[in-house]
Amino acid sequence: MKSVKADSPSPMMEQYLALKAEAGESLLFFRMGDFYEMFFQDAVAAAGALDIALTKRGQHLGEDIPMCGVPAHSHETYLARLISKGFRVAIAEQVEDPAEAKKRGSKSVVRRAVIRVVTPGTLTEENLLDARSANRLAAVGEAEGRMGLAWCDLSSGEFMTAPVDAALVGAELARLRPAELLVADGREAPSGQLVAMRPRGDFDSTAGERKLCHRFGVGTLDGFGTFTRAELAAAGALLAFVEATQKDAAVRLRPPARHLPESAMLIDAATRASLELAETMAGSRKGSLLDCIDLTVTGAGARRLAADLAAPLTDPAAVARRLDLVGWFVGAPTIRERVRAALKRIADIERALGRLSAGRGSPRDLGLLRDALQGALDLKRMLSESQLGVPAMLAECLDRIGPHGALVEGLAAALVPEPGFSVSDGGFVAEGFDPVLDELRGLAQDGRRHIAALEARYRDATGIATLKIRHNNVLGYHVEVAARHADPLMAADSGFTHRQTLAGVVRFNSVDLADLAARIAEASTKALALETAHFATLRDTVIEEAEAAGETAAALARIDVAAALAELAARGGWVRPEVDASTAFDIRGGRHPVVEAALGAKREAFVANDCDLGPECRLWLLTGPNMAGKSTFLRQNALLAVLAQTGSFVPAASAHIGIVDRLFSRVGASDNLAEGRSTFMVEMVETAAILRQATARSLVILDEVGRGTSTYDGLAIAWAVVEAVHDSLASRCLFATHYHELTALAERLSAVHLATVKVREWKGDLVFLHEVIAGAADRSYGLAVARLAGLPELVTHRASEVLARLEQGKAKTGGIAAGLGDLPLFSAAAPAAPARDALRDALAALRPDEMSPRAALDALYDLKRLA
Ligand code: ADP
Repeated sequence: MKSVKADSPSPMMEQYLALKAEAGESLLFFRMGDFYEMFFQDAVAAAGALDIALTKRGQHLGEDIPMCGVPAHSHETYLARLISKGFRVAIAEQVEDPAEAKKRGSKSVVRRAVIRVVTPGTLTEENLLDARSANRLAAVGEAEGRMGLAWCDLSSGEFMTAPVDAALVGAELARLRPAELLVADGREAPSGQLVAMRPRGDFDSTAGERKLCHRFGVGTLDGFGTFTRAELAAAGALLAFVEATQKDAAVRLRPPARHLPESAMLIDAATRASLELAETMAGSRKGSLLDCIDLTVTGAGARRLAADLAAPLTDPAAVARRLDLVGWFVGAPTIRERVRAALKRIADIERALGRLSAGRGSPRDLGLLRDALQGALDLKRMLSESQLGVPAMLAECLDRIGPHGALVEGLAAALVPEPGFSVSDGGFVAEGFDPVLDELRGLAQDGRRHIAALEARYRDATGIATLKIRHNNVLGYHVEVAARHADPLMAADSGFTHRQTLAGVVRFNSVDLADLAARIAEASTKALALETAHFATLRDTVIEEAEAAGETAAALARIDVAAALAELAARGGWVRPEVDASTAFDIRGGRHPVVEAALGAKREAFVANDCDLGPECRLWLLTGPNMAGKSTFLRQNALLAVLAQTGSFVPAASAHIGIVDRLFSRVGASDNLAEGRSTFMVEMVETAAILRQATARSLVILDEVGRGTSTYDGLAIAWAVVEAVHDSLASRCLFATHYHELTALAERLSAVHLATVKVREWKGDLVFLHEVIAGAADRSYGLAVARLAGLPELVTHRASEVLARLEQGKAKTGGIAAGLGDLPLFSAAAPAAPARDALRDALAALRPDEMSPRAALDALYDLKRLA
């Protein structure tokens, strides 16, 4: 990039600008020798993000060109950092030998092409991925007025679609946690996602269908399921993006499978956040429920568990099958131990397949697969021989494993025990696999032996005992002597040709040495070419069996999850929940797994609590002072439902849970102040979502809702919400509040149950017993808590005086809830919703602006028919 005049960019610059135009918003890594260089704004952005030096190189349009670069051999580290900061990187490689370019003329530049665009959602490299988390690319499609999602994980081949209600897109995305989301230009991008806006044409459902058929080599998608147009639109956009970023790499995707949202407990984003299912409010995995229960020993198992926990099942039979498997492992500690030990040694089959099929695999990946598949077969044999009757799900898992005998044998024969990371280093094909290769290697070996002999001969002939034959990348093989011994070799008839004089040594060549070197080089080159060919063949064989290997991997992951959950249950004394189609919710001696673990680390005991949300007491109003344990109790019950429907044992003495179809958890605004939004508004929007979406099978957890506003407003809202949940939704509900006035509702609403967390005041101090009992808190103990928190004596003393006054006043007027007891039921006073009927719906659906007179007339006839 020498200095360039405005009117005549150099050929290299032209090439750069063309590639940069192709890369668009992605940073362009422009390969120059041993470096990837970045220029212009890319350089500025990357140097800042990577904290590396920003330099200049040449000029463009009269301005200095900013530049920075990263070494090619260690570029993955830099890539990882850029990707984690939300950049996308287009990699432009030299795609011809520089010698070829020279042949075209001294000025011509080496051809380069973007061979791949690295984006957060399309990674396959081990170093760029977390082994225990999925890395999903998702797309939102829309067609026929409906929405659809598609997502895939290129590192494991997962590929799924789902139809989804417009109102629930956020919830589904919160479940999937995609690393990158594709949205059509002009559409609204969901918040909290790393979004790539893509051309609308990519989201065409017909094109999507065609792409899918083409990719999976089928004439129709019927064999995979009945997809909605919106799902096809999303899937098409996904495939288009994969093609655009992976270029020619043949990344493997399994045929699309459909996820039906109603098969999983619906948990929206706010609920996931407040229950800290997969990450804490602060955004770390540590401290989340997932982190607390994850005892899996493989990456694939960890990913399976994360996916299961994100989508608890809603079919009691499916839950029971999982519980049977966990229960079997609970009852068989020795087998569990052996299975976990065996799994621990089995490498990540899916990810190795992902790398190999993306063309980024190494001999090591072949070795991993050989050992992992063998390990799977061993495990299958061990479990099949087990004398204990095997539960149905385990039998299915065992059926899914194998047969990989031939592949494993083939790989075992072909590979050395520990093949290396790079094809170009060679040395990974085992001896005895290919006689021609062995012979070439023999020749190279022989050559090296001859060189040693030649060195000895030269020493004898010259009398220089320190003469050496060495090898380096510039000169190749050469003779080296100390400078003071060089003279005799310089003589014209010495048989040596001078090559190089350095500070202390002089280097020579000789005819014999050159001969030998050429023979070695030829043999090595041929050997490497052979090895490379073997690698390609072996890789193809593996890819041919990818589907079966994927099944094996899935079965192993399922076994890992079940054995891990059993281990967890055994360690913590967890029990098998009874999960059925009722609306029961009866927990005896329940504990909060995460809080219990945290207390355990401090050697403190967790106080177990019961919770019965049966039909006569399905709405609990929980009062009690701050710090008593209200939030913990609320969340623990939600977590028990999630765990049970995930197919896990639960931390309780017993648990009977009727399937929860939707789970909602909201925490009052003031607990979330850190977020700095209009928190009350957020709280109300979220509460509104619950009131719209909850059903009689849902579980609703409301913690101090209404707190983010003035006392009167807050109480009024809380009051109305309780009534609505009780009367219209009839959901099971736990409602924690510090509005003691609400307890008056218990008299009017039949299924309300009052509960409080026991505390004892002792010499002016509060003792929290964390025991949930029937009844209402007699008062809020705010002052005692304030004292506990270390508020100065002077202040607490004055506060008690003020409180005494206020309470006197309250006694006279009846308090802020005075008169509420006489209110007619809010719900009875609610404005009647207009009756819905087919005629009204049809009318509402008409768009007169878009109708031709003829269509309008037809519509009129249709309406008449409905009347
Ligand atoms: P609240 O919501 O009433 O303000 P929290 O649920 O936040 O109270 O609980 C406060 C603290 O009390 C928790 O951090 C936990 O350490 C402890 N705690 C809560 N419940 C229990 C329990 N059942 N057993 C033991 N400790 C508990």
